[in-house]
Amino acid sequence: MTSLVDRLGRAVHCLQFADGLNPAQWAVLRYLDRANRYSRTPTAISEYLGTTRGTVSQTIKALEAKGMIGRETNGRDRRAVLLKLTREGKAALENDPLHCVASVAGMLGDELDEASRFLDRVVDCLQAGNGSLGFGMCADCTHFCRNGFGAEAHRCGLTGDPLSVADSTKICVNYDAPAAP
Ligand code: SF4
Repeated sequence: MTSLVDRLGRAVHCLQFADGLNPAQWAVLRYLDRANRYSRTPTAISEYLGTTRGTVSQTIKALEAKGMIGRETNGRDRRAVLLKLTREGKAALENDPLHCVASVAGMLGDELDEASRFLDRVVDCLQAGNGSLGFGMCADCTHFCRNGFGAEAHRCGLTGDPLSVADSTKICVNYDAPAAP
């Protein structure tokens, strides 16, 4: 199994030298597409990707130079900067070279959920071993208050901010996993 994971990792790595981007750049674009507004910082990216701040900083610079990501001011802390995908970055992701992996995975049918849960557990264990943060989906977080602002919006119990339906599907650096039953 270890050997299979290694081969898969190498194959997936090679696929991602595409459209003038490298694997690290694709990973940052994908992350920014999935991350919520608390999580689109260089620190959160390096935490999620398990890489150094220096490497992430170089990748961000390259993507900015290509016009694929931009910066916006953080509403809570105006000194902090949030990264965001530009229209060009979103367009690039439509041709993500890993779409072919998703197509192959789709052939697994009902086994896909089981395989995904297994791989999730492997990643969680590795991250826990490294002392990394969990980064789960907002709607599954212990702080998520469904309809916390009535029918209009959910609420983050940690920050008190409203969360839209779209927010609830994003991943978050502050995610707190529910205790195992
Ligand atoms: S509910 Fe949890 S995952 Fe969602 S924004 Fe708040 S801390 Fe992040």
